[in-house]
Amino acid sequence: MILTILKYPEPVLEQPGEPVTEFNDELRKLVADMFETTYASQGVGLAAPQVGVSRRLTVIDTSGGKDPEQKVVLINPEIISSEGRQYEEEGCLSFPEIREKIVRAAKVRIRAQDESGKWFEMDGEELLARAFQHEIDHLDGIVFLFRMSPLKRGLNLRKIRKMQKDGTW
Ligand SMILES: [Zn+2]
Repeated sequence: MILTILKYPEPVLEQPGEPVTEFNDELRKLVADMFETTYASQGVGLAAPQVGVSRRLTVIDTSGGKDPEQKVVLINPEIISSEGRQYEEEGCLSFPEIREKIVRAAKVRIRAQDESGKWFEMDGEELLARAFQHEIDHLDGIVFLFRMSPLKRGLNLRKIRKMQKDGTW
């Protein structure tokens, strides 16, 4: 089922998600729906708050649905180490039309639970490292607008307000 993706400034996008405590069929259905929604929107990741569920859950697939081995489900994730720096363009399904370069760590190691509640660790670099950081930010209530420089944030906020006025947001 394709879920509705909430756009900024929906308040749930700026609220930290609650930890996931039940690893049941309802959770697995939400994960499946979130992947379907990501692919339908040509995204590479989606966090539960973006579909109105204030929980610490995100799905990532840097192949955009082309390679099932790239599917990653992160439940209650945390970044346990990071190194280096990258400065690449990012987009966000809650900010259609907006793309901006964001400073992120080049490599990160995360710890998370899978759909059955089992803890695992995983390393990511380049695009996967960016996706980890972008999506985990969502679970902390941080949208990428607030990772931009004040100047770019201001320009993008004006662009959003204009689109809201035109009815295109
Ligand atoms: Zn996002």
